[in-house]
Amino acid sequence: MHPLVPVAVTATTEIIRGALRLRVNVAYTQALRGAGLLPLVLPVLAPEDADAALDGVAGLVLTGGEDVDPARYGTAPHPKLGDVHAGRDAFEIALVQAARARGLPTLAICRGVQILNVALGGTLVQDIATEWSNPIVHDGDWARKARVHEVEVTPGSRLARALGTERPVVNSMHHQAVGTVAPSLAMVARAPDGIVEGVEWPTDDWWMVGVQWHPEELWASDEPWDRNLFAAFTEVVRRGVTVS
Ligand code: MN
Repeated sequence: MHPLVPVAVTATTEIIRGALRLRVNVAYTQALRGAGLLPLVLPVLAPEDADAALDGVAGLVLTGGEDVDPARYGTAPHPKLGDVHAGRDAFEIALVQAARARGLPTLAICRGVQILNVALGGTLVQDIATEWSNPIVHDGDWARKARVHEVEVTPGSRLARALGTERPVVNSMHHQAVGTVAPSLAMVARAPDGIVEGVEWPTDDWWMVGVQWHPEELWASDEPWDRNLFAAFTEVVRRGVTVS
């Protein structure tokens, strides 16, 4: 049996040293490779390419990045709205729909869970510090690997089973969050201030877990939770692949 199963990893584009380039944090590809998967970085393509882009992979990872354009969920831009990327929004919304249609195992991280929620009809909190009542700090000046706030995970949820805990302490590098949860999704994790930190697809026809924190930065941490999450993703990805 081939030990490495390919999964698609989304990326962004950014002008670096005068040229428009494709970019993704290496932490994602290292964590996925460490979990026994073969990460294949997808360029930002046109929405009509999304279905074809998922042919030949056994899973999808939606990565972090820019704020989602609030026009995508019918809201005017907040003064604290950060950079948006219209092409990336369009492509990733199409990827979510294509992954859902084929039941492709999907792990959505940070912006990933936000775009997924928007793609399925939910909304976002555009700026936690100014729009949420009594928020804790979710975007402090701390290390990417620092576990800074607790999360309460719904007992028995796919996320709780994957992590192996209902009370992880996680890193936090976001000023936006899921607002109204899409009707088809289950909210399965909250921070102490009530901010949504995890959602999932509630039935067994689609393994989809989305988290607001960055498990890829915590994959080699002393605590096993985030490693467990990648291991659970790997297990379901491998199960979906016929190998000879
Ligand atoms: Mn947080």
